[in-house]
Amino acid sequence: MIIPSRPADSRRFARLLLWTGVTSWAELARERAILLTAAPWDPTSRPTGDEIDRVDDSGRSSRTRPLAPVAPRKILCVGRNYRAHAKELGNDVPVEPMIFYKPTTSLLDPGGDIELPAASVSAKVEHEVELGVVIGKRMRRATLEEARSAIFGLTLVGDITARDLQKKDGQWWRAKGMDTFCPVGPVVVTGLDPQSLTILGKVNGELRQSGHTRDMIFPVAEVIAFLSQALTLEPGDLIATGTPEGVGPLVAGDRLEIQIAEIGSLGVSVVAPPQT
Ligand code: ZN
Repeated sequence: MIIPSRPADSRRFARLLLWTGVTSWAELARERAILLTAAPWDPTSRPTGDEIDRVDDSGRSSRTRPLAPVAPRKILCVGRNYRAHAKELGNDVPVEPMIFYKPTTSLLDPGGDIELPAASVSAKVEHEVELGVVIGKRMRRATLEEARSAIFGLTLVGDITARDLQKKDGQWWRAKGMDTFCPVGPVVVTGLDPQSLTILGKVNGELRQSGHTRDMIFPVAEVIAFLSQALTLEPGDLIATGTPEGVGPLVAGDRLEIQIAEIGSLGVSVVAPPQT
């Protein structure tokens, strides 16, 4: 992987499961996890005074495991936000952002397992790799400038999709909303330009998706402003900003990796449904 270039004021945050069984937010700096009293976008958040050393870039160590670094009350997603992806599925380019929800029960921690549905439910589950935006401020009816200031940080998201159900159901509640269909993490990074990132999706090490966020039809600030005309965005909410071209199938045994050099790498496995 390329050595990431991050602005000097960029900060990295994780939500960690500690060896004690306790969950804690943390800032990652110089191979240390500085534990925090609250989510980093919470104005009351302070260091607890406890630190854990020898953690890697994702917050992992012998005593810590990274969890999805978000606490969303809602997960909003943009469909068809890259021309080449709209085209590969035979769809028109939307004239305004096409929004759908994923339920918070679809969240999956870094290193977790995407659980395929039974073959009788869906026979075609696909990966979509996306830039994730974490909201830091309560926001309603935002201007573009206000929308920019609402961004707390950026992360990586997998918008896992049962493509056959997406076509069949009309509503996407199930196709995109199943348990484990929203891997997120491993960290949230502040201070990055959301429109200047290269995003990669690999399956078993093979490059399947490669895109640049400058190619979004609706840039992040426009999406936030658009959403906020209809609903209140709240701190911790997550927005998945759409996938570039190259979506493709996932089968049991696959390993999906989502990478943005400035953020890191999110790896999850694909497992068969439990036998009944
Ligand atoms: Zn998507």
